[in-house]
Amino acid sequence: MMLALEPDPTKQDAVFRQLCTDCGISRTAQARRCAQACQFIKPDYDGLEVKVHGRRRGQSDPLSTPDPEASDQSLGDEAFFGPMQAMYRARLHQPREGAQWTGITTALAEALLEHGLIDAVITMQADPDDPWKPRPVIVTEAKALAQCRGMRMGYAPLLALIEPALALGLHRLAVIGIPCQVYALRALQDDWEKQGLHSLYVIGTPCSDNTHTARFHEFLALLDPQPETINYLEFRADYHVELRYTDGKKRLIPFLQLPLSNLPPDFFPVTCKSCVDYSNVLSDITVGYMGGSGDQWLIVRNAKGRFMLDQLQGKIDLASARQAGNRRSAVQAFMENLKKADGGLPLRRMPRWLRPIVAWFMPRIGPRGLEFARARIEMKAIETLITLRRHHPARVKTMVPRHVWEIAQNYGLRPQPRELDAPQNTAAHAKDFGIDAEPPPSIDLKRRSSISSEVDHP
Ligand SMILES: Cc1cc2nc3c(=O)[nH]c(=O)nc-3n(C[C@H](O)[C@H](O)[C@H](O)COP(=O)(O)OP(=O)(O)OC[C@H]3O[C@@H](n4cnc5c(N)ncnc54)[C@H](O)[C@@H]3O)c2cc1C
Ligand code: SF4
Ligand code: SF4
Repeated sequence: MMLALEPDPTKQDAVFRQLCTDCGISRTAQARRCAQACQFIKPDYDGLEVKVHGRRRGQSDPLSTPDPEASDQSLGDEAFFGPMQAMYRARLHQPREGAQWTGITTALAEALLEHGLIDAVITMQADPDDPWKPRPVIVTEAKALAQCRGMRMGYAPLLALIEPALALGLHRLAVIGIPCQVYALRALQDDWEKQGLHSLYVIGTPCSDNTHTARFHEFLALLDPQPETINYLEFRADYHVELRYTDGKKRLIPFLQLPLSNLPPDFFPVTCKSCVDYSNVLSDITVGYMGGSGDQWLIVRNAKGRFMLDQLQGKIDLASARQAGNRRSAVQAFMENLKKADGGLPLRRMPRWLRPIVAWFMPRIGPRGLEFARARIEMKAIETLITLRRHHPARVKTMVPRHVWEIAQNYGLRPQPRELDAPQNTAAHAKDFGIDAEPPPSIDLKRRSSISSEVDHP
């Protein structure tokens, strides 16, 4: 069953925030909590990684037992993908109708409901007026989750439903969310526990290159003269976009042949160009595809994530994640291209005739599997720094976590002293980058609250 709430809390006015993906906090009675909850204000990934997973990325996990089926868990990959116990390629034996891939994400939540482990799932379904627009829902019956499968482009205030769910007596929750939603969820988890939250399972998907649903329709219109007939789109790990149509037809377009240069420079909002978490590091389990070599890609992060995956035993194939190729030159080229792009989309200077040839080679010789996923993480880190330095230089010091600098410095992007005064970027950490940091200023609460009341929906 899907609960319809009256009045609908997701329709409350959102308070304007300068960088915001409308996760729902600004629509709650305590909109000022954005200062504490927002990925775009002053995130503390190190602190929340410890709180959620018991340790920061890169520190060994004394509780985890190695799984011979999983990929080799060198702590090195945690620098890219965040804390984890295991990483897999995976697929459901029976792919679910309407799922974005095989439907592992909603199957995990279904299993929790079927086994009576939770009272409700908070996730998105398609808006009745626009199948591409996400709309938050509270779901209390496993079979109703079928309507939530699939990917929608855009943002919707998922977390505005947490307090109404608690008020309805639904104290054991699962939340399916993208990283900026999951950051806020974790940052306020203590508050919600005080309001009656007994248990929380967090199923995350990776996310990148999101934009407003209205803008996404502009993109669909460039891909096909009848955009309303497209009912599925995915940026696949083999460098193709897959489109599916209402009549069952499928079409693959190589990335290099996408009409990106026809999109306006602000097509992707600054939020998504400066997002610091691609792989949803604060979820219990991440379900994506980027490191999956054509299958789904699972990152089991902690004991709850393992427990959820165990519920699918007998229904899911798991195998080690693979990798091939070398990402270095692709990432370097991306960075050079982005620097020249002057704030818009990366320039595409390749002659038109050469594009199909390069498009043919890329899936065969380019970075693949986990190496492709690492490349995307590095590209995101570089894009975040270039975007913030260009559009919001004063925010670099508070918004950019340590792990982003660590990734980007491999490509020569190093912090300036004035860019290193977030709590996690202590003077000792500045020393890691070989520079003398200015002493961190004491936190000015007045300034903090003025930051929190700046608002900008992208
Ligand atoms: C905007 C966006 C960008 C993404 N980018 C990447 C990427 O770069 N790399 C990668 O590996 N994976 C990415 N993903 C995740 C990927 O598209 C699949 O959702 C994921 O692999 C799960 O597939 P599935 O078949 O298990 O999901 P399903 O079982 O079909 O379930 C999908 C779940 O996602 C929820 N959902 C759909 N749209 C949204 C939305 N806009 N906001 C919040 N929740 C939503 C649905 O409600 C549903 O619960 C992205 C997802 C989104 C929403
Ligand atoms: S400012 Fe941040 S925390 Fe507040 S609603 Fe927007 S995304 Fe959520
Ligand atoms: S790219 Fe980042 S900021 Fe944008 S919607 Fe996805 S998680 Fe949120």
